[in-house]
Amino acid sequence: MDACPLCDAPGGEVLWQNDFCRVVLADEPDYPGFLRVILNAHVKEMTDLPTTDQQTLLRVVLAGEAALREVMAPDKVNLASLGNVVPHLHWHVIPRFADDPHFPNPVWGERKRQAPHAASADLAGQLAAALSRRLGRARETG
Ligand SMILES: [Zn+2]
Repeated sequence: MDACPLCDAPGGEVLWQNDFCRVVLADEPDYPGFLRVILNAHVKEMTDLPTTDQQTLLRVVLAGEAALREVMAPDKVNLASLGNVVPHLHWHVIPRFADDPHFPNPVWGERKRQAPHAASADLAGQLAAALSRRLGRARETG
């Protein structure tokens, strides 16, 4: 099997994690607050998971959405699970603003503006705290 970037590395700055999945702040300079919820196991499709695990993963996705709404008050939140390039289950949880570079297009669509929406310098800390309030304390990493 080819190397998988989401098995080999966290995939961003880890804001919350447990033994099942992790929430990372993606390295997307155009999109401060762009979260990814990544299953720890290498699984391709949601329907490869048992129902309870599907629900657990979606609960974390929705906690990410709620954390973004609390901290950033976006105009819209986009949820997407593609995995065409990296077939390892992960959800994109993307805060969207009317002044962001692609709005109202998808972030993968045609660019409309140059500058990203302005964000707090302590965005990662604020999002990590908001996630922990909803999901409990993150498991400490070694
Ligand atoms: Zn993988």
